[in-house]
Amino acid sequence: MILLISDLHLQEERPDITRAFLDFLAGRARAASALYILGDFFEAWIGDDAMTPYQQSICAALRSLADSGVTIFLMHGNRDFLLGKAFCKAAGCTLLEDPTRVDFNGQPVLLMHGDSLCTRDEAYMRLRRYLRHPITLWILRHLPLRTRHKLARKLRSESKAQTRMKANDIVDVTAEEVPRIMQQYGVDTLIHGHTHRPAIHKLTVADQPARRIVLGDWDRQGWALQVDEQGYSLAAFDFGTDVIGADRPGIGSTEIRNG
Ligand code: MN
Repeated sequence: MILLISDLHLQEERPDITRAFLDFLAGRARAASALYILGDFFEAWIGDDAMTPYQQSICAALRSLADSGVTIFLMHGNRDFLLGKAFCKAAGCTLLEDPTRVDFNGQPVLLMHGDSLCTRDEAYMRLRRYLRHPITLWILRHLPLRTRHKLARKLRSESKAQTRMKANDIVDVTAEEVPRIMQQYGVDTLIHGHTHRPAIHKLTVADQPARRIVLGDWDRQGWALQVDEQGYSLAAFDFGTDVIGADRPGIGSTEIRNG
């Protein structure tokens, strides 16, 4: 059984989400062979050398899951793209490129964070190309901590202000970009997060039936996608219900199944 989550936006200011995630790690995730975290795991990340005690406790919790035998894969989101090798080593995670093609149940599947699918947001795509450039990344990682904190705050407030102004369809994925990238990677299943619009969409790629599974963000409830022999099950769960020993995922909440 494989679990996929994204967009937890973990931060010290949200003890409810943090608690729910630690419960998830200590409970349901222990039964998985692999856990995939597809970006925006942390609300903000300014560098592995600047880990707060809070972030270290999350790192230790991941490590404990990894040590129990669960393989953990981590992909960058637009909030935590500075997560680096030092964190992954300490947390026992493997960093994944965006996109990455994997095999689930013998079928090729494409994993992405999802921000790169929002191609109509040209200003963001430009900023993304700039921020993810190896030279920019090197400079960012070598700036003094105070400067990095200031920059991170500026980027977050600008992103919030702009998201409010942007039309709804600009901050969602570009419809034509989805089949294009799926065809490029030869998959009929795409899994991503970022848009906070959990759903299983049916579509056609190269005249074949295909699906796009969008993971949900953790805000008022948690979301996880489970992949097992039965297929794909995307379900929300209320915080506090996914406790240690719970053997049923998605207690009393939304569930979307797709074989
Ligand atoms: Mn995102």
